[in-house]
Amino acid sequence: MRVGQKSKDNFDRASLVFPDGTSRVTIERDPTPLYIDRGIGSYLFDVDGRRFVDLNCNFTTLIHGHAFAPVVEALTRQIQRGSCFANPTESEIELAELLCGRIPAIERVRFVNTGTEAVLFAIKAARAFTGRSKIAKLEGAYHGAYDWVEVSQAATPDNWGDPMEPKSTAFYRGMPASVLDEVVVLRFNDVEGLRRVMSLHAADLAAIIVDPMPSRGGLIAPKPEFIAAVQEAARANGILVISDEVLNLRQSFHGASARYGLVPDLVTMGKIIGGGLPIGAVGGREDVMKVFDGSAGRPLLPQGGTFSANPLSMTAGLAAMRHLDHVAFAHLETLGDFVRDGIGRAISIWDAPLCVTGAASLFRLHPRAQAPNDYRDIYPTAAGATLMKQLTRFFADNGIILPYGASAALSTPMTRADGQFIVDAFAGFLDRHQNLLDA
Ligand code: PMP
Repeated sequence: MRVGQKSKDNFDRASLVFPDGTSRVTIERDPTPLYIDRGIGSYLFDVDGRRFVDLNCNFTTLIHGHAFAPVVEALTRQIQRGSCFANPTESEIELAELLCGRIPAIERVRFVNTGTEAVLFAIKAARAFTGRSKIAKLEGAYHGAYDWVEVSQAATPDNWGDPMEPKSTAFYRGMPASVLDEVVVLRFNDVEGLRRVMSLHAADLAAIIVDPMPSRGGLIAPKPEFIAAVQEAARANGILVISDEVLNLRQSFHGASARYGLVPDLVTMGKIIGGGLPIGAVGGREDVMKVFDGSAGRPLLPQGGTFSANPLSMTAGLAAMRHLDHVAFAHLETLGDFVRDGIGRAISIWDAPLCVTGAASLFRLHPRAQAPNDYRDIYPTAAGATLMKQLTRFFADNGIILPYGASAALSTPMTRADGQFIVDAFAGFLDRHQNLLDA
């Protein structure tokens, strides 16, 4: 990627104060990151003055793009009135009312500061409610940085084990063996596997945590029979279903579980509901959410947080979510179909060994011709990884930020012309990289 001099200079400075020059492992670098000066609408501008269409949107957070005027206005008003208090504000009630009104599975909600924290508290809530400690999760699915959900998040062909019996694999050296023992791993869309796991572990499970379309797992559509099997297994065995919609809440006005027919007991949220500010939330059934109820003394599950429900995140989230109406979702759905169809057409014209997955405002490209079924199918070969690196680089050099190994996100300010620009860039890549495609 052509990286400008100012970005390079910044990275040199940053390398003296951060262990790898950055503050998060997910920062893309090729070979150094692009440093951003500002974002406006669907565009990013780097410190060297170049403009990019932003398909990262801070890992799918900015559904209205950058510096969305209603969010800027709401934040400007709020910051002059104070940024955080030890008391509640009306803004938290309004955002909670919006979520309870929109997401069918949510009767009560609790705000935290990140998606990681939302997942962490949902799992603890399920444990407190059921009195059990184990959880089941999908291989390759990302749910943030809580140890138990990190299990098998980065499983590799060397350690993931038999396709019929996926192993619980450690995420980092020194991960406690007791954590691995507490997590049962499922494969996405594998109904048989789910039944087998249930026959062995059902009585010990507090929760099955699923992302209806796991992004890091490939952004692959769930089979209705898999969703139904998760639901049935949980109901039959007193296990709670946690739908992790930190990323996929953006799939419809009513969220992702509603779109795919899942009826979870708890839902975790983050990203879009904060309008670009840090946020997380866990919501769900009233009786389950009662574990957080401290009105009569110490609750089953005490939960706090210095910045939880801070009015900046609340007002930014409210402004963003209120503008995310049915018209906005219809626009994103149409644009998503347009981009995925255009990319799909280009793939068939060039007969390229690539495919596209996703739904609504999300899409992901894979270096394989056949549609993937689960995480194991998208594990890249060396040639596949090179192809994707070249694709990301080509996009950046042509003014588009395409996330590498993650989902691309469209935003409401994007137009049909932006969609065409993305499709044309993709076709341009195929045209110019015949050698890589044949490799
Ligand atoms: N769950 C899912 C499905 C996510 O995509 C993410 C973040 N990408 C998280 C949890 C963690 O959220 P955060 O980065 O806000 O901690």
